[in-house]
Amino acid sequence: MKDERRIDSDADFSGSQYLEEAKAKTENKTKSTHLKVEIEEQVSGKVSEHEQEILPPNIFPKVDRADEGTGPKGWSTIYNEVVEMRSKFVAPVDHQGCESMPNTITPNLQTQNPQKYRFQLLISLMLSSQTKDEVNYQTMVKLNNGLASSGGFCIETVSKLTPSEIDSYIASVGFHNRKSQYIAKTCQILLQKYKGDIPQTIEEIVELPGVGPKMGHLLLQCGWGINSGIGVDVHLHRLASMWKWISPKANTPEKCRIELESWLPKKYWMDINPLMVGFGQVVCVPRTPNCDVCNLGRKGICKSRNQKLLKMPMSEERRAKLMKQRADLTNLINLINDDVSYTLNK
Ligand code: SF4
Repeated sequence: MKDERRIDSDADFSGSQYLEEAKAKTENKTKSTHLKVEIEEQVSGKVSEHEQEILPPNIFPKVDRADEGTGPKGWSTIYNEVVEMRSKFVAPVDHQGCESMPNTITPNLQTQNPQKYRFQLLISLMLSSQTKDEVNYQTMVKLNNGLASSGGFCIETVSKLTPSEIDSYIASVGFHNRKSQYIAKTCQILLQKYKGDIPQTIEEIVELPGVGPKMGHLLLQCGWGINSGIGVDVHLHRLASMWKWISPKANTPEKCRIELESWLPKKYWMDINPLMVGFGQVVCVPRTPNCDVCNLGRKGICKSRNQKLLKMPMSEERRAKLMKQRADLTNLINLINDDVSYTLNK
């Protein structure tokens, strides 16, 4: 069993290949289920077993004090503020992200049929590029329902479909024509080389058509419990760049991953994707970030904060606009009224 965290899916797609493919914890600690989790440490080659909590998908551990000195100055302050904010709302990635989909569609699939779970996880990741979580989720439901009478949503069934038949199920997602072909080819490779299962190394996974490093690392983390690397998507890349957690040279997700991994302790590698993706989907959205409900803006921590927005009163109009975001932001909006630092910072 593995840590049940959510993964994003608003990933990058480019060219002929997918190029890129817990205060809270203490508050909720007593509510969370404690499970024994076995995680294979791929890099060290050892298998370590330790107690790990399965927390709600919007609850993330904060940075340990011992780790605060690593990385760019102040990174842990930003990270911890995001953890605080993420505990106040449930983002699309938390319930409709790639990792959650197979289990949402078929409860307990991961524990009852891990191979089928891994296959569906792979498909959801392949469908996810240039596609919102919500659309991806509906497509996965369509596949599951549509294939139910012909053997179920598994590699044996999907491998018998032609690319055009696959396309008829996935027409709502971005680049569906190309994805149909990639899925058909990938099924054949998995059957021929991997007995119908997903390979366990990043090198083998990125050889599959239409599967990039981001997908590969997330697949290994969620499908096999292998913490091979950080899954960097557009949100994480954008935020890491904005906070100067990476250098200007890290202008691709892959370069971003390498720089982040050079200083971020490995224990945060699995969390950082869903943590930042949910934040990027709802609060620090591209182009018009909601700095007025962001702790980093209100406390003057983020240098990219929109001062004009921060000085505006929380009008009914603004509140209505915020409520149209992809998550219920009531808890964050309510914080503004109580926040002395916000008043001082204006
Ligand atoms: S203050 Fe604004 S720009 Fe900075 S992290 Fe928050 S929402 Fe994003």
